[in-house]
Order: sequence, then structure tokens, then C-alpha cells
Amino acid sequence: MLSNWVEARTTVQTTVVSLTVGLAALAGLALWTSLSMQQAATHLHELNEVNDRWGIVVQNVDVADHALTDYVRSGTPIMSQPVATAAGAADESLRWLQEHGTPADVRAATIARDLYDDYTVLLRETVVAADPVTTLQKADQAELTLASLRKQLSTVVQVKRLETTDYLRSAELQNGNLRMAALVAFIVDLGLVALCGVVLLGHRRKILRQAAKSEHEAMHDALTGLANRTLLTQHTAQAIRRSNQTGDPLGLFLIDLNRFKPINDTLGHAFGDRLLQLVATRLTRAVREVDTVARLGGDEFAVLLPSVSTAANALIVAQRVHKALDEAVDLDGLSVDVGCSIGVALYPTDSADAHELLKHADIAMYAAKRARLGTAVYEPGLDEHSAAQLTVISDLRRALDQSELVLHYQPKADLRSGTVCGAEVLCRWQHPRHGLLGPDRFIPAAEETGLIEPLTQYVLDHALAQHRAWHLDGRDVPISVNVGAQCLHDRTFPEQVAASLERHRVPADVLTLEITESAIIADPHRASDVLTRLRDLGVRLSIDDFGTGYSSIAYLRTMPVHEMKIDRSFTTNMRTDASSGAITRSLLGLAHNLELEVVAEGVEDEETWSVLAALGCDIVQGYCLSKPLPADEFAVWLQDRSLKELITTSD
Ligand code: C2E
Ligand code: CA
Ligand code: CA
Repeated sequence: MLSNWVEARTTVQTTVVSLTVGLAALAGLALWTSLSMQQAATHLHELNEVNDRWGIVVQNVDVADHALTDYVRSGTPIMSQPVATAAGAADESLRWLQEHGTPADVRAATIARDLYDDYTVLLRETVVAADPVTTLQKADQAELTLASLRKQLSTVVQVKRLETTDYLRSAELQNGNLRMAALVAFIVDLGLVALCGVVLLGHRRKILRQAAKSEHEAMHDALTGLANRTLLTQHTAQAIRRSNQTGDPLGLFLIDLNRFKPINDTLGHAFGDRLLQLVATRLTRAVREVDTVARLGGDEFAVLLPSVSTAANALIVAQRVHKALDEAVDLDGLSVDVGCSIGVALYPTDSADAHELLKHADIAMYAAKRARLGTAVYEPGLDEHSAAQLTVISDLRRALDQSELVLHYQPKADLRSGTVCGAEVLCRWQHPRHGLLGPDRFIPAAEETGLIEPLTQYVLDHALAQHRAWHLDGRDVPISVNVGAQCLHDRTFPEQVAASLERHRVPADVLTLEITESAIIADPHRASDVLTRLRDLGVRLSIDDFGTGYSSIAYLRTMPVHEMKIDRSFTTNMRTDASSGAITRSLLGLAHNLELEVVAEGVEDEETWSVLAALGCDIVQGYCLSKPLPADEFAVWLQDRSLKELITTSD
């Protein structure tokens, strides 16, 4: 409360203004004192000058009186000389007093001068008297005049003395008042100076606090309060210096959330922000106090472990982080799974400096993400992969523009009759330097960077164009196109599909779109909306790689799909691996209960075909039928097969 008052802006202003006024008052008082002292001195000087003149007059009169007494007593003419000299000696002083004195002085000097003039005349007459009797007479008259003169002079001297005393007393009083005022002003100013000191100290504290706050803001992430990239870099540099002294390795984790983007896109940024705050809290709790947890931006976090000794120790911490982030997050009554991928790099084991440490952790993180490993520790081999990945992305844009992607077609056949009932379109990249690349070399990168949407559009357009060409050639081959996960979150996707169908004049029911479970799960509401509109177009929908994701049956029931593709990891091994067989059987049962058509992928041999036929599977796809083929080879294959079928039927 008090500190608030001290730090308030108005307090600072008021105190400074008061102090300024106080100091000005003190300075004014000092000036006033000095002026009044000077005035008093001048006045006293004037008083003294006047008093001195009166003193001279009294002195002159005394001298004349003594000279007259001596002359009368001696009766010798020689003694008349001093009398003659003394006569009129005070004239000048009296005249001065008449001219320069105060009005009272002027009045007194006029009276005294009249008497003095008479006295002077009598003195001169005494000196020039012809006989002793006249001399004595004149001397007596002079004495009488002198008595009046002395009375007058003594009154004046008395008055002057009183005047001087009064003046000195009043000057003394005024001085005392000024001294008192100066003392009061001094004490008030002293108080104000002290207050100013307190206020300035308070202000300084406030500025220091603000500086500390700004520094904190410059070094921390505003949303989560975690360290930001700058602070992480500083701490890494410090940890590296310490590691150089102790020889203890340090570790850096780069953590990327797995399912943040769809959650943020679907549930809104406010929800996303709170989720990030929760992740920050969990991360902080999962590591030690000495470790630095930082947010590098978006859903990317980092943890610096200043001393880890071994990679195994770092992996133990990484496991703790996974445990913390794998637990479902309950927010606003919704339960969401975020999960994360962690890249680990160590210093000095595999990185030479802070910059490299971060770069390597980043490379390891991407490796973990790509391979769905959870955690990956950096190793030099990953570099080449990541460099290749980078060129893949930039090259892929060009490849789309220059039609370097080629489509292969893999037939699907009715399991009971063996008749070809369609073909899956599988994309390859005829790379100018690396040759023909399989989809595993570029589809994951396209999914990560958003290039999957133009890529899907590319495949769709080229496949529909091919379908049209075959149709004009007298062959109607229904086609299945794989759809990237992000397309299902793009509300304009159904319109794009409709436009493509129209452009190539292909009916919707010959097109099947294959979607993965994870694409649906990332944002079931939006996916369901997009799928419903696609189904309304008349397009068939298929769930690809079924059994490998984590779709719940509840979702599956509500999704407007027609077909389910059992992942080849189950079918390929179903004859040798009992659990794969059991899973295939139960997936088949489930799909049929939901009235979905079932495609078994990855069927490589006749035996598996027979087993699947016995289980009531509808359609088969796999090497036992054919590998994916370029369009022209596929047409030849189809021709041969039709011929064979024809021969078999006629037999
Ligand atoms: P998918 O959709 O599951 O495609 C089937 C994959 O299984 C193909 O691999 C195919 O060559 C392979 N295959 C077919 N029969 C057999 C078999 O009997 N045994 C074995 N072991 N494998 C078989 P491919 O062509 O390498 O494609 C891999 C994946 O890449 C595809 O898996 C699909 O997810 C993706 N992909 C391919 N083309 C596209 C595309 O145009 N768009 C999108 N979004 N993804 C595509
Ligand atoms: Ca597929
Ligand atoms: Ca598949």
C-alpha cells in the first residue's frame, strides 16, 4: 500500500514540485535577507553620517566656547585669534545637515543654524570690541546664545541616539524573523529532500522491477511462461562451457507434438493455447529443476539436460516425457490425445557446438516422427536422410509442375469369380536424377508439408484422364485413388473431386477414394462432413490399411463408407502367423456386420486367396494377381487376362 503510494507517478511529481517550491522559497528568503541587510547597513551608514555631522557641530561649538573663555580670562589680544578661527567653523556641517539630513534634521539644523549664526556674530563682535567692557558684554551675550544653542544641540543628539537605537532594535527584530523563516524553510526543505530521496529510491526500484520484467519477457514464451529460443541458446552455451570443464555430456531434446495441428484446427486456437499450457506444465514436471524446458514456437518444445552422462540416461528422461504427454488431456469435458516425437542429441558425443546440437536434435526428431519411433537419438546417417528429405520437398513441387509423377495401376479382382473389378492407382516419381522413386520416398514428406493436397489432385486428374482414355478404348476400369489425410480436412475437397469428374466426363460411381483411419480420427467431425458430401456425389469410399490405425468401431459405424481394405500386414502373413489370421477373420466379420465390402490387400499367393475365399472376402488385390503396372502395361495385362478368361470360359 505504502510502496504503491511511493511509486505512484503523482507522488513523484508532487514531491519534486514541492521540493522545487521549497528550494525557491529558501533561495527567496536568502535573497530577501541579504537585501534587507544591505538596506540596514546603508541606513545605518546614513544615520552615522548625520550623527557625525551633529557631533562635529557640537565639537566646533565646544572649541569656540573654550577659545572665548580663554580670551576673556587672559584679556590678551593674542588669544583673540582662536576665537576668530572658531567662529563659523560649524557652518559647513550645519549647511550639510540642511541639505542632506532627514526632514527632522533639516528642521533642527535650521533652528540650530539661526542660533549658531547669532553666536558667530557675537564671537566676532567680542574679538573686535574696542574696550574690555564691551568685550565682556559681548562675551556674556555670546554665552547666553550658546546656552540656547547647546540646549538645541543636546536635544538633537538625544533624539538621534534614540532614533539609532530604535532602528537597530527593529532591524534586529526583522533579522530574527527572517532567521526563523529561513529555519522553517530549511527544515521543510530537508523533509522534502528526504521524501524525494525515498520517492526516487521507490522509483528506481520500480524501474529495476520493470527492467527485470522486460528481460523476463524477452527470454520467455508469453503463452506458457517457458524459456524461449534465446534463453535456451544461452543456457545451452553455459551448459557446454560447464561440460567442457567437467567432461560430463549434456543432452538436448527437441519435442514436437504429434496431433496438435488437427486439434488446434478443429477445436479452435483458445483450446489449442490451453492445451499447449498444459503440455508445458507436464513437461516441466517430467524433468528435473536444473533442466531447461523451452517452447520454440507452435507445438515445438525443447528440453536441455545439462548433464546426462550417457545416451541411455537421456532415453530414460525421454520415456518420462512420453509418459507425461501420452496421457489423455481432459479439457472442457473433451479428452484429447496429443503424444509427441522426441529427437535427442548429445554434446560432445555427436555435436560440436550449441548450433549443431539443436540442428541434430531437430534431425533426430524428424526421424522419430517419420518412422513413428517416439524417440530417436541423433546419428550421422540421419543427416543424409534429412538433406535428402529437404531436396525431396523442393523437387516435389517442381515434379508436380512438370508432371514427373507417374501412375501405376494394380488390379483388384472379385474373389469368387476372379474377374477384374477395378484398379488401385499408385503413384511413383520418375526423378530426373534418382530414377523411379516409390511413394514411401515422398508421400510422408508431402503429408508433412501440405504438398499432399496438390499431389492428390494431380493423381486424381491423371487417373480420371486415363480412365476416360480406356473407356474410349472400350475398357471400363473402376479406379481407386488414395487420398491424403489433409484433403479430408479441406471442406472444398468434394467440389474439387466433382470438378475433376466433370472435366474428364467420368461418372462418379467408377471412382473409389481410399482414406486412412488416422485421417478420419484426426478430426472426425470435419472428415464425416467431407465424406458425406463425397458420398452424395456418388463417389465410393474405402477405408484403407484397416486394422493398423486406432479407429473406434463407433466412428466406423457412423462414417458413410462402402468398403474396407484389410491391411496387407495381416493378409500377407495370415497363413503362417495365427494372430494375423485371427485378426483378418475378425476384421472380415466386423466389416460384413457393418455391411461393408471387404478388399484383402497384399495377397501374394493362391493359398491365401483360397483361405480368404473360404472366409467370404469379397475382393482381392496383391502380387498373386499383378504388381502395380504403368498404364500401357496394365492395358496389355488386362487384354491378356480377358483373353485367358475367354479361353477358360470357352473350354
Ligand atoms: P497402399 O494404399 O496400402 O497401397 C498398397 C501398397 O501395397 C502398394 O505399395 C503396393 O505396391 C503394395 N502391394 C500391393 N500388393 C502387394 C503384395 O502382394 N505384397 C506386398 N508386399 N505389397 C503389395 P506402394 O505402391 O509402394 O504404395 C505404398 C503406399 O503409398 C500406399 O499404400 C499408399 O498409402 C501410398 N500411396 C501410393 N500412391 C499414393 C497416392 O497417389 N496418394 C497417396 N495419398 N498415397 C499414395
Ligand atoms: Ca491404398
Ligand atoms: Ca492399403
